[in-house]
Amino acid sequence: MATPHIVICGAGFGGLELASRMSAAFGEGVRVTLIDKNDAFVFGFSKFEIMFRRRTRDEVSARYARIAKPGVTFRRERITAIDPERRRVVTDAATYDADVLVVALGADYDIDATPGLREHGHEFYSVDGAVALAGVLPHIERGHVVVGVVSEPFKCPPAPCEAAMLLDDYFTARGVRGQIAISVVSPWEIPIPATRPGSDAILDRFRERNIAWIPKQGIAAVEGGPSLAARLGDGSALACDVFLGIPAHRVPAVVVESGLAENGWIPVDKAHLATRFADVYAVGDCTSAPVPKAGIFAESAARAVAEHLTVRLRNEGVARPYDGAGSCFIEFGDGNVGRVDVDFLSGPSVTAPFTPASAQGAAEKAEFAATHLQRWFG
Ligand SMILES: Cc1cc2nc3c(=O)[nH]c(=O)nc-3n(C[C@H](O)[C@H](O)[C@H](O)COP(=O)(O)OP(=O)(O)OC[C@H]3O[C@@H](n4cnc5c(N)ncnc54)[C@H](O)[C@@H]3O)c2cc1C
Repeated sequence: MATPHIVICGAGFGGLELASRMSAAFGEGVRVTLIDKNDAFVFGFSKFEIMFRRRTRDEVSARYARIAKPGVTFRRERITAIDPERRRVVTDAATYDADVLVVALGADYDIDATPGLREHGHEFYSVDGAVALAGVLPHIERGHVVVGVVSEPFKCPPAPCEAAMLLDDYFTARGVRGQIAISVVSPWEIPIPATRPGSDAILDRFRERNIAWIPKQGIAAVEGGPSLAARLGDGSALACDVFLGIPAHRVPAVVVESGLAENGWIPVDKAHLATRFADVYAVGDCTSAPVPKAGIFAESAARAVAEHLTVRLRNEGVARPYDGAGSCFIEFGDGNVGRVDVDFLSGPSVTAPFTPASAQGAAEKAEFAATHLQRWFG
């Protein structure tokens, strides 16, 4: 290939990491087209900042227009079709033919898959949902607030528990916590299946702060009428006054229509994230790679693809296989953040040591955000 054209669909955690790495390795020696329908990147965890009014949507948005990387062109366009056989991407503005195509389109939410969720519930998983909640939370004075995970898989395993611990903080600061009960409904037995110590720390905090943990249940429906209730997977009704749902997740429709997905997600080879189509890769939440859906794993997948492509294009070296590893920060409230250093794939079994929550952890998380934005946009 002379100057290979790499088309990256989606400029989230995975797409931004891959574009940055290819630019760092090759500069103008590659032609990277990075496409996203949005005009800015927002970290998943910034949705907490929005919903609790710590920062505005604008303040947490990193504008793609700032990307100035040799070899990389950003296009703000909506992808309407992907032909993996021909490596052709069609958007609402143009058609792109790729030598190498990487799909990093993340996961969409299917709010209407849960009856009543749209009418009677709220969500904080999308930026719009977090903005809307920022207008709702200040009016809550009493009652039962339920954070409920509809089904798995869902992004960022700790996020529902983080939401509960931050709600506890928020209502305490407003002086209304005594009149408010908080519960978390999860399909899992423990908050983060990959880490027992991290899960125990969350459950200890729940006990200390009187947050109820309701395990091994999905949400079948949210029922309105004279009194609100979450209908759990076992058929029982959980009465509540405010329901914050983590909606069902699915690949974007354009991925389904492309034929890339099987059983809901894009299958990839574990080592280099290749799909069954020649020179087509997929990273992050849109895949069925054997890791949870989280930015850190999208990032490490992008690292693996970047190394693999670098070896291929230079025709030298050996690419490290995907390790499914990364550091996951967990908000515990009171300004303290814990950390799990997860490694899913590089050893014989999963390792996930936990570092207890502290102010130092909060500083590390802020540093994580700053260094990533610098690397992706600087
Ligand atoms: C509340 C919350 C907290 C979280 N906290 C953390 C955390 O602390 N750590 C962590 O690692 N992860 C966290 N996550 C999860 C994290 O945000 C995602 O897992 C991560 O963003 C996935 O990266 P990705 O590249 O696969 O997809 P995304 O980052 O979702 O990127 C996909 C991109 O594709 C674009 N796109 C989709 N369809 C189209 C189309 N048709 N045309 C053009 N563009 C399109 C989207 O606009 C998007 O920019 C959190 C998530 C939430 C909701």
